[in-house]
Amino acid sequence: MTEPDTIDVLVVGAGYAGLYLLHRLRAHGLSVRVVEAGDGVGGTWYWNRYPGARCDVESVEYGYSFSAELDSEWSWNERYSTQPQILAYLNRVADRFDLRRDIQLNTRVVAAHYDDAGRSWRVRTEPAGADSDEHAELVARFCVMATGCLSKPKTPDIPGVGSFAGPTYSTSRWPHEGVDFTGQRVGIIGTGSSGVQSIPVIAEQAARLHVFQRTANYVVPAHNRELTNADQGPEELAERRSSALNTRSGLAFDGGELNERAATEVSEEEREREFERLWRKGGLTMLLAFTDVGTEGPTNEAAAEFVHRKIREKVRDPKVAETLVPRDHPFGAKRLCVDTGYYETFNRDNVTLVNLRETPIEQVIPTGVRTTAEHIELDALVLATGFDAMTGALTAIDIRGSGGARLRQQWANGPSTYLGLAVAGFPNLFTITGPGSPSVLSNMRLSIEQHVDWITDCIRYLDEHDIASIEATEAAQDSWVAHVAEVAEPTVVAHANNWYVGSNVPGKPRVFMPYIGGVPVYRETCEQVAKDGYQGFVLTSA
Ligand code: FAD
Ligand code: NAP
Repeated sequence: MTEPDTIDVLVVGAGYAGLYLLHRLRAHGLSVRVVEAGDGVGGTWYWNRYPGARCDVESVEYGYSFSAELDSEWSWNERYSTQPQILAYLNRVADRFDLRRDIQLNTRVVAAHYDDAGRSWRVRTEPAGADSDEHAELVARFCVMATGCLSKPKTPDIPGVGSFAGPTYSTSRWPHEGVDFTGQRVGIIGTGSSGVQSIPVIAEQAARLHVFQRTANYVVPAHNRELTNADQGPEELAERRSSALNTRSGLAFDGGELNERAATEVSEEEREREFERLWRKGGLTMLLAFTDVGTEGPTNEAAAEFVHRKIREKVRDPKVAETLVPRDHPFGAKRLCVDTGYYETFNRDNVTLVNLRETPIEQVIPTGVRTTAEHIELDALVLATGFDAMTGALTAIDIRGSGGARLRQQWANGPSTYLGLAVAGFPNLFTITGPGSPSVLSNMRLSIEQHVDWITDCIRYLDEHDIASIEATEAAQDSWVAHVAEVAEPTVVAHANNWYVGSNVPGKPRVFMPYIGGVPVYRETCEQVAKDGYQGFVLTSA
């Protein structure tokens, strides 16, 4: 048997996080291997190729900030870029920084076991997608999980879903060659962001589209538009990036000049004017209209009613409009969806909204979908049913730490981490945008860069100080977990059913996973921990 390859750092995943991490670590002279299950780089933007897929953070803020040369060589076409352009950008990054030679594609990491004696990780890989027993091993001093918060599709929990005789497409595993729905009767299940983006585009092509809606969502307009060079010159980028660092979500919005007041401090007219202004501006800004939008009470109710009115204005059939009005959760309690023409799609003659609250799906059958009211015949079925978010990709790997402790077992009642970066009992393991960090509540690009920079600096520090292992303490982890829960407590998002708490996956423990205390506070905390010689971690000399 041949000896496994030994490297400094193994990175799992070649999305935004894995690519940037490889670039940074390599610059420090470390040997790095990135292992990626897909047969291309790009992560989210490699897998989610469904029609209408775009970012909902503005393109100019979604591009990396680490290279002025890259900035000057790239321009975004639209305010919210399409998936093909974002994927092209990430491929450009891979080429521009010569990353591909250290990326192993089509390979899945199935296990990572810590070797206490060797103070290193033994990682087992398999060919992805192939039915094969072939496997390989790697030994790495550090293992970094850049596996993504939204990369493990949820297993569809719909009776009979496998029995459909026609093609079934998942938005998160869309065929690379695209799908032509011309002349077809199509059904789509799911009205989260993926459904909201794809429904208007599929409706334009299909002969007939049935939208199966269980929960109506709050959908705000993108007001997408073409970008000019002036929108993305060096000064504009610098200004936006520095504003973004000071906002809770890491998004520049209004140049960082957010309303610092509660709506209860202003008149009703002023409150409505502000909602209207932000609605016209487009994107996720309405969430931050006032400081009290995200907590239960009159401002949140007013924001909800504001959107309800907009839906009624846009949708001609009053019964359809009422079905689209979200009633069972507060505004912002599920991730806001950002649309182009979503509500208007329900004015089309070829689109039918099926209200699953009134007539649930009994079963998917070979010819279509049977609800409690009717049998809907379909030629193709689209699943936009979401992800096992934040923990799914991590617990899919058999991760065992010091003394063989199993991550899956340790997280059986929900994830515990220190800063979303490390887990007690799992030395030399880092998680990028892990549970307990702002991650999905922020501009992910910014949070990814912050984690990558922190981890790179940490490994450099360890090497400079001749330290062989770093491990979060139980005490630091417990206190961080308690803080994450405490700041989430007053917010509506922590108490609703949504993927942030894992309630979308049957059997998943209900824990609010991201850190809602805001990007600036979080960044300062991480910086302070490092400045204090990695407080909350045990460092063991070589
Ligand atoms: P990912 O891009 O998810 O990459 C992780 C990679 O790890 C994947 O390629 C996966 O195949 C690989 N991987 C996982 N497990 C293994 C394993 N065991 N072995 C080998 N490889 C593995 N965020 C925003 O901030 N703005 C947006 O506009 C936005 N839009 C989004 C749109 C969609 C459709 C989705 C699903 C998410 C969106 N997000 C958005 C969140 C998005 O996931 C992040 O912005 C970002 O792309 C995450 O990058 P990442 O590298 O951390 O993870
Ligand atoms: P999602 O938000 O979890 O939405 C899944 C949808 O499927 C929901 O409407 C859900 O209904 C429905 N569903 C799930 N299981 C079902 C079942 N058994 N029967 C009927 N309906 C079912 O997933 P997503 O739309 O893929 O988005 C996930 C996240 O990815 C987003 O929140 C966002 O962060 C990111 N994303 C961003 C963009 C973007 O705009 N840039 C686009 C796509 C995704 P219930 O709500 O009733 O469970």
